[in-house]
Amino acid sequence: MPVGARPQRTRALTIPRDPVVIIGAGPTGLTAALALGLRGVPVVLAEAEPALAHDLRAGSYHPPTIEMLAALGVGEAMHQTGIVVPIWQVRDRIEGVVAEFDLSLLRDETPFPYRLHLEQHRLTPILLDRIRRAVPDVELRFGARIEGFEQDLNGVTVQLSDGPLRASFLIGCDGARSTVRRGLGTAFEGFTWDDRFLVASTTYDLGALGFAGAGYVADPTHWAAVFHVPDEGPPGLWRIAYGIAPEEDEAEALRPDAIQSRLRIVLEHSRAAPTGGAFPLNHASVYKVHQRVAARFATGRVVLAGDAAHVNNPLGGLGLNGGIHDAVNLSEKLSQVFSEGADHAALLDLYDRQRRPINVQAVQAMSIRNKRLLQETDPAIRRERLDELRATAADPARARAYLMNTSMINSVREAAAIA
Ligand SMILES: Cc1cc2nc3c(=O)[nH]c(=O)nc-3n(C[C@H](O)[C@H](O)[C@H](O)COP(=O)(O)OP(=O)(O)OC[C@H]3O[C@@H](n4cnc5c(N)ncnc54)[C@H](O)[C@@H]3O)c2cc1C
Repeated sequence: MPVGARPQRTRALTIPRDPVVIIGAGPTGLTAALALGLRGVPVVLAEAEPALAHDLRAGSYHPPTIEMLAALGVGEAMHQTGIVVPIWQVRDRIEGVVAEFDLSLLRDETPFPYRLHLEQHRLTPILLDRIRRAVPDVELRFGARIEGFEQDLNGVTVQLSDGPLRASFLIGCDGARSTVRRGLGTAFEGFTWDDRFLVASTTYDLGALGFAGAGYVADPTHWAAVFHVPDEGPPGLWRIAYGIAPEEDEAEALRPDAIQSRLRIVLEHSRAAPTGGAFPLNHASVYKVHQRVAARFATGRVVLAGDAAHVNNPLGGLGLNGGIHDAVNLSEKLSQVFSEGADHAALLDLYDRQRRPINVQAVQAMSIRNKRLLQETDPAIRRERLDELRATAADPARARAYLMNTSMINSVREAAAIA
């Protein structure tokens, strides 16, 4: 050793032998299983339910998410069923369209300059099918609920309802009420909104009333979000999400006549809107919405991703997209541990530093801002904000900069730049 040189600390390279155990076969867990499996990492995916959930929540995928899913080999299947939505609108409930944002302005930034609409329960079978065909070694355990776990320096002993299992790493993709997060004792910091979201869907063609495939309707009381989703195929369904006040009774709000009258109110600016129960209703459900982020995304060998790590209101369609970004980011890191014996502690720390602040600064901030914009009660502030959006949409350079944020391209790039 040269005089004055410090002895280097060396770390023995060890390739883990035990599998990565993923809890939850929602979109985040399935994406993580597929991404890890394709990189040759042994995976066990445990899901409490006997089959995939028929989940109606998410349905809108932003360009970076489509890029990631296409790289995992499911892009074609998603496009076969999904609806391409190049333009989204901001509307005033009374006046109609305030601003239209055209994602084709991003064509130099992404091969997918649009939103793709596809119900969550149509994405998950596509992911599962891809896992079964491309990475049959991924062990799928349905009806296997996580009941507890204990970690030590070398791995994690996981108690599943169908027996114990030794894991090199445990990934909690088990949703907002995550057993894994609770088992870690990690705080889920944030708040729950007082109002809830009612989501109803109709076969009535809102496109004929001038709605783009995605639209946000501003109003102090009767704000709404409108989305065109594929359903069983053309002409598809229109989903309308609106708020129900804290004092409103859920069963009352779900009555078909109550939904019919709210839909008419949301579409009031449009003289062509039908009256008298003319929206054929397909389904309706009520969701509580939260803005919460786990205090840590990784503790030792146990990691959180998707809704287990962060939840937000659905305005902007950011939650599931963020979960897929987590899954892909984490899979790249864990696969380095398996292929090169890379230092897992440093990589999981990097995962936390890349994904957690971005969620707080981008996803939480944007979804809260979207909700406050739509339901602003002060007419002067509302006018000012809508005028600002109108001016942004009218100026291609400003519209492009705005879309770089709302389409999550910036948040993915900013996370990747954190070393
Ligand atoms: C009305 C509404 C609309 C939305 N729209 C959008 C949108 O357009 N775009 C968007 O990006 N996001 C949207 N979201 C958010 C999106 O639905 C969620 O972010 C997404 O479902 C998160 O996926 P996940 O896989 O992380 O969790 P989940 O989908 O919740 O999956 C968790 C899985 O874990 C399983 N599980 C739970 N506990 C256990 C256990 N103990 N053991 C084993 N398995 C367990 C569950 O059964 C489930 O299968 C919306 C949300 C709502 C409420």
